[in-house]
Amino acid sequence: MIPLAVPNLAGREAEYLQECIDSTYVSTIGPFVDRFEEMVANAAGTKYAIATSSGTTALHAGLTALGVRHHDLVIAPAFTFIASIASIAHCGASAWFMDVSVDTWTLDPVSLERSLTEQTHRNKEGELIHTASMRRVSAILPVFTLGIPADMDRITQLAELYQLPVISDAAAALGSTYKGQASGALKADFTMYSFNGNKTVTAGGGGAIATNDEAKAKLFRHLTTTARVGGDYDHDMVGFNYRMTNLQAAVGCAQMENLDTFIQAKRKISATYELGFADIFGLTPFPAPDYAEAAHWFSGAFLAPPIAEKLPQIRFTLNELGIGARPFWKPAHMQAPYRNAPAGDLSVTESIWERVLTLPCSTGLSSSDQAKVIHHVRETIKNLC
Ligand SMILES: *Cc1c(COP(=O)(O)O)cnc(C)c1O
Repeated sequence: MIPLAVPNLAGREAEYLQECIDSTYVSTIGPFVDRFEEMVANAAGTKYAIATSSGTTALHAGLTALGVRHHDLVIAPAFTFIASIASIAHCGASAWFMDVSVDTWTLDPVSLERSLTEQTHRNKEGELIHTASMRRVSAILPVFTLGIPADMDRITQLAELYQLPVISDAAAALGSTYKGQASGALKADFTMYSFNGNKTVTAGGGGAIATNDEAKAKLFRHLTTTARVGGDYDHDMVGFNYRMTNLQAAVGCAQMENLDTFIQAKRKISATYELGFADIFGLTPFPAPDYAEAAHWFSGAFLAPPIAEKLPQIRFTLNELGIGARPFWKPAHMQAPYRNAPAGDLSVTESIWERVLTLPCSTGLSSSDQAKVIHHVRETIKNLC
């Protein structure tokens, strides 16, 4: 079996874990957490990074720190992993779903602008209100789909105009750049990274918020560590217990030492698939917008009709042949808990999601295994289509 994406633990993970056990620092205080935060801030291009128990908890606490309240709306693309939307719901708020651009699979600045212009107004208090639902709009949450940065210049320009904070879900985008800038160094208030097991860099589980804003960094850290003031049991806010543990950070540090190697491997895998399918009509690579160098978290192929109609059979055949091929995210607005959330035109989202085939892309994938995958994809398509 050639798996879809498995962690690459060939570095100093075991050594660092042993250090945690020997020192008894296994919990949320310890040298690896601090080191990990430094490494993440460095890679994100920010002054601060605060490590959390997961990407989802980082988003939840991040939205809370940015002032998202019960009953609010948070603008988010429908084409995302469910955690982006669940984190909004955890605040008691709801997503306001918007479409993605067909060229980037990330939040479409054109529909964002149109929605803000045509569907909101300011109330007496000066708050931005979604006119149809009369709910306050309190943040924008762009997603860096597959490690591709969203078009942040245009999004943050609109955010400034409408005075909305921005929290980027850059879960799998560590190592990507936007117009030459590191993914965290853009104008978002917060940028979230995930270190879940299937991400390019893993801590077993974990997340982080990167930011250049000192006050917001402090508030976020405060919120994620029980909002304690002073040394004893004094707490001034409703805090979370969302801090990363030293055990997770030990793995995370060892992984971060290999970030550049991992990103290079991911980019090479993606380029090899692109080359391997270049002559097949109806198979194209995932988007590569001019403005970005993506992190290529996942690789695979985007299928045009009529091949796209055969995707389930293609996947089934590949799986039978021992190749980890999978579909990609089912859009959030089609998921039971979020069906009634306000949504604009989502025609791009609806037209792309069933046409994505993800293929094995572990950073440890060998050239011969990838050649085998390419061969079987080509044969399967020839036989079925
Ligand atoms: C992985 C992922 C998350 C969630 O991160 P966890 O660490 O698993 O909680 C959120 N958003 C996107 C886009 C992701 O890919």
